[in-house]
Amino acid sequence: MTDNISGKVIVITGASSGMGEAAARHLAGKGAKLVLGARRAERLDALVAEIAASGGEARSVPTDVTRLEDVKSLVDAAVDGFGKVDVLINNAGIMPLSPFESLKVDEWSNMIDVNIKGVLHGIAAVLPHMKSQKSGHVITTASVAAHLIFPASGVYSGTKFAVRAICEGFRQEVKDYNIRTTLLSPGAVKTELLDHITDEAVQSVNRDYVGQVGIPADSFARMAAFAISQPEDVDVNEIIFRPTAQQ
Ligand code: NDP
Repeated sequence: MTDNISGKVIVITGASSGMGEAAARHLAGKGAKLVLGARRAERLDALVAEIAASGGEARSVPTDVTRLEDVKSLVDAAVDGFGKVDVLINNAGIMPLSPFESLKVDEWSNMIDVNIKGVLHGIAAVLPHMKSQKSGHVITTASVAAHLIFPASGVYSGTKFAVRAICEGFRQEVKDYNIRTTLLSPGAVKTELLDHITDEAVQSVNRDYVGQVGIPADSFARMAAFAISQPEDVDVNEIIFRPTAQQ
């Protein structure tokens, strides 16, 4: 019996750390061929080397998801190198939380550019290929913050609510092309995501909380593998998961 992962060509954005990195490692272990994108090329290269040393197949493409051309090059590397693109994990994201009164307008813009436009760029890059293949799977990392708003999360939650709406709209429109769509909405996961919070009080509260209840990034990797491994006529549309201890 096949797990429906082995041999698949999977593109992951935000693969240089955290959940994207964990997903790359996990899916490579199940026989997928990985094409990994993020800005930190040296981190990607180290991961590619690690996967190769374990007998897996991966390549990396330095990618800034705010640039459509970069994301197209990432997906082209999959199609040129491995002949197709079966899955895109649209995962790159940032979370510089802050209260509105701090007026960190540049951070608001960056979140919109990475979290929303980055996801749209992924869709734009894979859709022509998946249409002509008449198959594909777009997995997008949202958040429990795509369902709720908490202090200092107004803009971040806004980007994740938007991503949820975009992915549901996309799901409804790509039925004829046999494309599956999955939104993965994690709660608190221990990654590097908090490192970029510039508001010290917000950083401290979140660090304490995630330090107490956060779960490992492997949790995300298993959810992605679960969605991919379903038979092709089964489309897992959304998984919300969080630490058992999280409200
Ligand atoms: P990390 O900070 O560990 O990983 C974020 C990844 O996104 C990195 O690989 C980073 O790579 C990449 N990235 C950031 N900006 C860009 C960019 N402009 N272009 C390309 N890649 C970029 O955090 P997580 O693993 O936690 O985050 C992954 C996703 O999970 C995000 O979408 C986040 O919003 C979401 N999420 C996380 C939760 C958590 O508790 N950790 C909870 C819910 C959702 P590089 O810097 O090398 O470009």
